Amino acid sequence: MKGQDAPESLQALRVAVFDTKPYLEQILAERNRQGLALTFFEHRLTRDTAMSAEGFQVLCAFVSDVLDAAVVERVSALGVELVALRCAGYNNVDLAACEKHGLSVARVPAYSPHSVAEHSIALMLALNRRIARAHNRVREGNFSLDGLLGFELHGKTAGVVGTGRIGRCTVDILLGFGCRILAYDKVQHEDLAGRAEVEYVDLDRLFRESDVISLYVPLLPETYHLINADTIAKMKPGVMVINTSRGGLVDTTALIEGLKSGRIGSAGLDVYEEESEYFFEDFSDAIITDDLLARLLTFNNVLVTSHQAFFTREALANIADTTFENIREFQEGKRGPELTNGVCAKCE
Ligand code: NAD
Repeated sequence: MKGQDAPESLQALRVAVFDTKPYLEQILAERNRQGLALTFFEHRLTRDTAMSAEGFQVLCAFVSDVLDAAVVERVSALGVELVALRCAGYNNVDLAACEKHGLSVARVPAYSPHSVAEHSIALMLALNRRIARAHNRVREGNFSLDGLLGFELHGKTAGVVGTGRIGRCTVDILLGFGCRILAYDKVQHEDLAGRAEVEYVDLDRLFRESDVISLYVPLLPETYHLINADTIAKMKPGVMVINTSRGGLVDTTALIEGLKSGRIGSAGLDVYEEESEYFFEDFSDAIITDDLLARLLTFNNVLVTSHQAFFTREALANIADTTFENIREFQEGKRGPELTNGVCAKCE
């Protein structure tokens, strides 16, 4: 536990920040212009650690912190009044329990979409020009080009699934490369639909005609395993698949079969269905017991990153600022749905 006490004149709200990492502590400390008294806990919030919330009015929580009914009841009895989530999703929070115990909940609905879009492009370029392989090879004194033959994005067809904030940033960058865009979304955004190089199509056509397919839809029952054996069978042989959205959009077993058969030419994955077991932590001294993840890591045409697409200075600053803004509104007396970024059972 580490603390950042406010100057005496501002002794005010005490905020318990759970599941912290050094980079998070640094950015929160830097952007804490309100002089909040921040206390950083490396551990996650669970039933076992809920007692750490004693003496705090605000909990700052992340995706893996548990705020089920039992934890909500305990922390509210300890005096907590606001849960300030530093993420967009709130599936880990029992909103009905929060309402029952008078706990307000606020989140960070959006932050720099460029962070995720640019990481998608980084994966595309690294895959099509074999950068990781080339780097490893040159470091060993092997300067041959065999096996490094790439392709140009210019003139290729890029299928973009989901044209919300991140999808449209990706479209903008891909247009700069000279790609033709086949877009799919349940809502057709007029400004994009009006562009000469962008065409909204159905998923079938997108799968059949795209050289590169990247995903930017949320994980919902209807988008679960959007990439599966049937959809992979429709894709162009050698297609590149990029997923920086949510692991559950891709059926990993089907993806591995697609890579083995060559139908999928390469894959860039920042997210993975079972990522919560491994991602964000150092397992370099341990054995990876997840056989699907281990198999993915054996392909020389697959790049896996550990849910880092959001991880830019700009996005972290956005997250910190919105979190502090949410706390400021709470300090001003706003509660529940009155908070600009408030989430509650009734508002869903
Ligand atoms: P957004 O809400 O702006 O856009 C989502 C788009 O998906 C919208 O245009 C919506 O109409 C469309 N959509 C929703 N359901 C659909 C469906 N069933 N069929 C077709 N289209 C559908 O979201 P965003 O900010 O662009 O984020 C996209 C996703 O990126 C998020 O859901 C999240 O999973 C992921 N993400 C990943 C990271 C990371 O670090 N890897 C960071 C932030 C977000």
